[in-house]
Amino acid sequence: VFDVLIVGGGPAGAASAIYAARKGIQTGVLAERFGGQVLDTLAIENFVSIQETDGPKFAVALEQHVKQYEVDIMNTQRAVKLVPGRIAEVHTATGAVLRAKTVILSTGARWREINVPGEKEYRNHGVAYCPHCDGPLFKGKRVSVIGGGNSGVEAAIDLAGIVQHVTLIEFGNELRADAVLQRKLRSLPNVKIILSAQTTEIHGDGKKVNGLSYKDRVSGDVHRVDLEGVFVQIGLVPNTEWLKGTVALSKHGEIEIDAKGQTSVPGVFAAGDVTTVPYKQIVIAVGAGATAALSAFDHLIRSGDD
Ligand code: FAD
Repeated sequence: VFDVLIVGGGPAGAASAIYAARKGIQTGVLAERFGGQVLDTLAIENFVSIQETDGPKFAVALEQHVKQYEVDIMNTQRAVKLVPGRIAEVHTATGAVLRAKTVILSTGARWREINVPGEKEYRNHGVAYCPHCDGPLFKGKRVSVIGGGNSGVEAAIDLAGIVQHVTLIEFGNELRADAVLQRKLRSLPNVKIILSAQTTEIHGDGKKVNGLSYKDRVSGDVHRVDLEGVFVQIGLVPNTEWLKGTVALSKHGEIEIDAKGQTSVPGVFAAGDVTTVPYKQIVIAVGAGATAALSAFDHLIRSGDD
């Protein structure tokens, strides 16, 4: 029986593992892909104290740091069910059942994709999902933001201060972002807003993005925009499908937590992109992972059965 079982091996899970193991308690990490979203990232320039690194390097560093401690890492294993209880159970896709006094959920999230030709081919070569991360890579260039909700409009405002020109493309016939954001967006001279537009393809030269096509949903005409970058901003999907009915989730499917990382179920904590935490970043996930581990330890010493 683990004292702490961490489900998810991204930055949040790795930080939880280090903080838990340093308390001298039995710690396990179950991860489908140790490293998490970081593995899909090129440059990382905003992890405080590391001026520049890349995703694969950062993932290796995470794993090496965790391995400094006695942590049972179970990689390439997917959790499919959580059964809460005084001793909770986590069931894996291969049929194994892991038992733990406390559980930390850190299964992260994935960007919702638009699923058009060119998106996968040019991911990290012009197709981006995170303006805080990749915006500066497009300094002085032309980009488009796909999605006119709060995240898309915020991204467009953010990028307009860095890049030469932003084309915001919204599928519906109006923007869905808050009015104050829309006002700000419309006040910017280097932003063009295109409504009722369905992105049909992202073009490139074989190496990087050089354009995008969209269909005008009113006239049916297809138009091409020349640009160097496309930011897809149509939502972040938390990896919580397997948790429905066990811990309380927000309407977006994120695990609801309090300031200590406690979920609606005693002894079950959560951290990182999978939760209601407002900003999804590595440095934030790492801090949340530490919080959840300290809270799990606090729970163990108060529950008095060890
Ligand atoms: P994740 O990194 O998503 O890790 C989740 C973990 O859970 C993985 O190990 C996954 O395999 C595992 N998992 C999921 N479901 C299950 C399951 N059912 N059973 C077992 N394991 C499971 N942030 C920055 O701060 N700076 C950047 O420059 C930056 N660039 C980015 C670029 C890209 C392309 C992307 C996609 C994201 C970027 N981010 C960046 C965001 C950053 O990667 C995330 O905020 C961070 O990885 C979140 O950490 P996490 O541990 O919460 O989740």
